[in-house]
Amino acid sequence: MTTETFEFQVEARQLLQLMIHSVYSNKDVFLRELVSNASDALDKLRLEKLRDDSLDADVSDLHIELHVDKEARTLTVRDNGIGMSYDEVGQLIGTIANSGTATFLKELEEAKEGAGAEGLIGQFGVGFYSGFMAADEVTLVTRRAGERQGTRWTSRGEATYTLERVDDAPQGTSVTLHLKPADPENQLHDYTSEWKIREIVKRYSDFITWPIRMVPEAKDGEDAPEPETLNSMKALWARSRDEVSDDEYHELYKHISHDWREPLETIRLQAEGTFEYQALLFVPSHAPHDLFTRDFKRGVQLYVKRVFIMDDCEALLPPYLRFVKGVVDAQDLSLNVSREILQQDRHIRMMQRRLTKKVLSTVKEIKTKDADRYATFWREFGTALKEGLVTDSENRDAILAVSSFATTHSDDEPTTLAQYVERMKDGQDDIWFITGESRQSIENSPHMEAFRDKGIEVLLLTDAVDEVWVDAVGEYEGKKLRSVTKGEIDLDAEGEEKAGEEREKQAEEYAGLLGWMRERLQEDIKEVRLSTRLTVSPACIVSDAHDLTPALENMYRAMGQEVPRTKRILELNPGHPLVKGLHKAYQASEDRTELAESAELLHTLAVLAEGGQPKDPARFVRLVADRLERTL
Ligand code: ADP
Repeated sequence: MTTETFEFQVEARQLLQLMIHSVYSNKDVFLRELVSNASDALDKLRLEKLRDDSLDADVSDLHIELHVDKEARTLTVRDNGIGMSYDEVGQLIGTIANSGTATFLKELEEAKEGAGAEGLIGQFGVGFYSGFMAADEVTLVTRRAGERQGTRWTSRGEATYTLERVDDAPQGTSVTLHLKPADPENQLHDYTSEWKIREIVKRYSDFITWPIRMVPEAKDGEDAPEPETLNSMKALWARSRDEVSDDEYHELYKHISHDWREPLETIRLQAEGTFEYQALLFVPSHAPHDLFTRDFKRGVQLYVKRVFIMDDCEALLPPYLRFVKGVVDAQDLSLNVSREILQQDRHIRMMQRRLTKKVLSTVKEIKTKDADRYATFWREFGTALKEGLVTDSENRDAILAVSSFATTHSDDEPTTLAQYVERMKDGQDDIWFITGESRQSIENSPHMEAFRDKGIEVLLLTDAVDEVWVDAVGEYEGKKLRSVTKGEIDLDAEGEEKAGEEREKQAEEYAGLLGWMRERLQEDIKEVRLSTRLTVSPACIVSDAHDLTPALENMYRAMGQEVPRTKRILELNPGHPLVKGLHKAYQASEDRTELAESAELLHTLAVLAEGGQPKDPARFVRLVADRLERTL
């Protein structure tokens, strides 16, 4: 048979280097990773055989086997699961498909040798490659169930690996680690020690539902002993709470999530009665990098009577809770159940409702009990949760109760709507908000001037989803949610009618200018009026109360929908010298060429002030340069 040599993909090589130089302090976890892969391979084979009985594979004794050879200093992890084909080995083991890992490597690169690097590496699961923390050479022999020929992969973790076809490979995969030389200083990391292997399996992999066997060393003069099963195989979710330690829960979390960090919260739920199930759910402590990508994989696994059925079971939780990981084990489903059936099953729908409520009430509990933990939760998952305000009207109140928003009231403490309402001023009827790209850009927008002046609190909403949920929710405790950039606003408290009268008089006075400007700007603007929003800026642009905001328009367009461009409203500040001057010039002159340019400039200034783009940047620059020149 020929042996072919291949180069590792660049990212894979970087990761291997990290493993070899072992930046990660707890080397023991490599065994957890290999056992976890083996367990997945057994799950996959069992399912494939269930779906296709003609598959030529033996599923009568699925198990994992550990074998230590003290003389040769090797440790082998063997499973008789699904295995991999020749091509699969190249794809799966030679490259890093996981986009999170690629992003992680980029971050690591940025952190460079800085103190951040060591912290970062501990946060990412690197699966198979972690073997190189303990070994200086790894050999993998595998045969895909149903195929006749196997594949041998070997690497010293440097730039290359070799692939070779083999004829006599048993079904499944065996990974042999050629352990690094023993360190006489550090017996703790002696992976040829039976005792050490037992300890690691017990600590990290006890809950694995397949037997993990090891043949104990034969004592002198005795026959080879029978293999021993090292793990209890007990499903954690089926055991009572006081039997299971937090550490055990966390290890299960790491197995299903491929996250190496502790979860933020563990949630247990046992439902009895006609449709019995157990759920063990985890809220991670960090949002994955791909949470907002289209093909993000959910993290809830479905088991039926302790048997793994599927990963990524989308029927169990709504999309806005897709960051929740865990296991749901139902007693009364068929082992053959498909995704399509699950989507339509009445019991599953009830289960989803119950799990959703349980997750939300747990978040509420965190919020009441532990401000720091809640802050972490909201920072990581708030944006996802807010999607629920749009899609899950049944739980809207529960979601609002745990939602918090940046506010002009505080530089760093977000507020709930309840707290906002408590602080509302006498005579204030509405909850005010502004949406936009960043806190800085919206906080300094001209639309905020009158609010700042009168000390009225405004919520500062900067997530794309904010544009949508505010409309969907509409009001909170009878108070309308209103954008400071939409509609006409009247912030005068009672007893300030005089101000109102004065404004009417002013509007009459300016009527000529306003009408003329509207004509001039009609391509972009549907109305020009005097503003009650502005105290400092000369002009701003607002939308009608029911119009789409420009950000929403862009969002729809990005999704490929046709949206007509909505014309907006230009508001002028009659207290500003620029506007006063414009008015005077309008009244005085017959030739309004110059004035028309000024009107156009004023409009563009208002567009810029809210973070927009001039329609014709070159023309804008020319007009401004012209005027500057005249001041010199
Ligand atoms: P991860 O497990 O996070 O996907 P790994 O690098 O550990 O990353 O493994 C990459 C892929 O290689 C796995 O997703 C799986 O498809 C395959 N693989 C690894 N170990 C085994 C095994 N023992 N049996 C079959 N396939 C395996």
